[in-house]
Amino acid sequence: MPDPCATPNRPAWLIGIKSVRATALSLLEWVAPPCCLLCRLGVEYRHGLCQDCWAKLPVNQTYCERCALPMSHKSLCGHCQRCPPVFDSVIAPLRYQDPIDQMLCALKYHQQLSFARTAAGLIADMVSESDRPKPDLLVGVPMTQRAVRKRGLNQAVFLARLIGRQLDIPAKSSLIKKLRETDRQSTLNASQRQHNLKDAFHCKGSLEGKHIALVDDILTTGATANGISRVLKAAGANRVDIWVCARTPE
Ligand SMILES: [Zn+2]
Ligand SMILES: [Zn+2]
Repeated sequence: MPDPCATPNRPAWLIGIKSVRATALSLLEWVAPPCCLLCRLGVEYRHGLCQDCWAKLPVNQTYCERCALPMSHKSLCGHCQRCPPVFDSVIAPLRYQDPIDQMLCALKYHQQLSFARTAAGLIADMVSESDRPKPDLLVGVPMTQRAVRKRGLNQAVFLARLIGRQLDIPAKSSLIKKLRETDRQSTLNASQRQHNLKDAFHCKGSLEGKHIALVDDILTTGATANGISRVLKAAGANRVDIWVCARTPE
């Protein structure tokens, strides 16, 4: 997929035109500040949203310390106590509810890329405020090539690139490939779930001693994140964190 944020090499005269354009855009922003991506009324306050919309975001304040499942107090959820996940931690600033659910659907299914700026900014903010170690590499949760062609965008790979630029961490989503389509884990019984993700992902090369952050928009059951984490650790990764914008209640 071509990188929409890439800056290709350009001749000097064109760079001159570009800087004039950038100055004109800055002046325009000063005269008419960018409006909120969500309500289209307020002036942008942070990561594309106005102060009112920002204040209404469903912050995931108390959650499971391992999988970020929303809870009434910080501790380990029952599932993580019974069966600890392969990944080591989860960054999930929001709960998956209104209005972030609509924003992420618009990004994923209608290619409204401006919402990626909000999602990436929220994740990068939480990572910057956290005292957890920074990863060596970012990897977006892969889709099959057929699925990318059909949808036109892998939002996870796009988010990984944006976050990588903000935090100065390389994003190498080509490290891991999805080889075949899988069913939604939530629609399957226990034995079907075991087979569903088996051999669905492949990691190219060694990740010996690397700390990886796996990026996606949402974390639902955690089964896909867990399956990919298993593949990354089998390739030598010593730590895998999951970075998502929103966590579903279950
Ligand atoms: Zn707004
Ligand atoms: Zn948990």
